[in-house]
Amino acid sequence: MCLAFVATVGERWRGNHERLREPADLRRWYREYGLLDEPVAVTPTGLDAARTLREAIHRVAIDLFTGIAAGRIRGCASPECALLFVDTSRLGRRRWCSSAACGSKDRSAAYRRRQAGRVSWTAVSPAWWTSRVR
Ligand SMILES: [Zn+2]
Repeated sequence: MCLAFVATVGERWRGNHERLREPADLRRWYREYGLLDEPVAVTPTGLDAARTLREAIHRVAIDLFTGIAAGRIRGCASPECALLFVDTSRLGRRRWCSSAACGSKDRSAAYRRRQAGRVSWTAVSPAWWTSRVR
């Protein structure tokens, strides 16, 4: 989402192509990315503030992608999560954006899958046993 917002300026290598030229452009972008259910008023001042924020995000993204953390950017392993994170773990094997949130949910789901795959001895009928003891 942040990168999509940064991309509202195109062709940065050729002098920038501003796609948020007027407040209505930002209002439309909000709607297209599902940020708001209801249309909101965007003022010229609000548009300026959004552009300032966008350029700050752009600078941080450049630092992130080209700096020391460039090789440590990962996508969260949870199928329900689309976040990227910087893996700062010593071994570089972090899987989730948050171990407490996505990691916990993923581990719980894996546990439930393992439990579902196990034979429940109490659920096996006597007929199942007699069919196998011959
Ligand atoms: Zn996640």
